[in-house]
Amino acid sequence: MKHPPCIFCDNESGSPEHLWPDWMHNLVKFAPINMQEADGPILFGQDPEQTIDTVCGDCNHGWMSQIEQKNVSRLKPMLLNTPITLDPGGMKILTEWAVLRAMVAESIKPRNNNENFYARQERIAFKHSLTIPARTRVWVGALINSNPDEYHIGCHGTDYTIMIDGGKTRIGTGSVSTIYAGNFVFQTATEHLTPPYVCEQEALITPPSGPADERLMEIYPQRPKQLDWPSEPFTESGPTGVILGLFGRWHMGEKVSKVKNA
Ligand SMILES: [Zn+2]
Repeated sequence: MKHPPCIFCDNESGSPEHLWPDWMHNLVKFAPINMQEADGPILFGQDPEQTIDTVCGDCNHGWMSQIEQKNVSRLKPMLLNTPITLDPGGMKILTEWAVLRAMVAESIKPRNNNENFYARQERIAFKHSLTIPARTRVWVGALINSNPDEYHIGCHGTDYTIMIDGGKTRIGTGSVSTIYAGNFVFQTATEHLTPPYVCEQEALITPPSGPADERLMEIYPQRPKQLDWPSEPFTESGPTGVILGLFGRWHMGEKVSKVKNA
């Protein structure tokens, strides 16, 4: 094999595929964007035409494409900022879409040790039965661009450590993906505990209160009976912006204590 196996199956990966689906490219023209707050770090937007080579053609054009097709009828109005009411079934398949996007985007993220956050068995279980990895949360929100005719698209990841003993002992890692396209945004967070630590709590790190509280709505594992989208939107910049309001909330997670050393 010239390439490592597909992240979801044993086929060889390596056929270049678009990160973002054709239906989105056919709908609007996306412009690259770089974001910066004050003199903070610049967040470099991705090339809208970005390709990936970590999945095989069978997966990409098979079950992954089916997840995409199931979600077009909801994602399309959301991308274009057309109001839509989401029911629990819709929120369930949007969750699958967001987790798939997070897994794929994470597979091309450069890391020091070149390892992925999601374990292979988590990805295989997702392909096999759309099992959402344990200790995962998913939120959805709206995003208003300063120029309403300019659309952006991207997926950005950040990792955080889970510490106990007043920050002395590292017991695990969390990985957050923020996915935005046009006027919608999703955020996913998955936490892994390092053996021997176990915990029955679903999620360990909860971001402190902030602008995301009224702008991000949880659709997994809790979901409302009905969700009227759009909610109060994020902006491109400022306190309610993508950098401070969405990414920033994960830089000050609260410490947790209900963890056992098994
Ligand atoms: Zn595959």
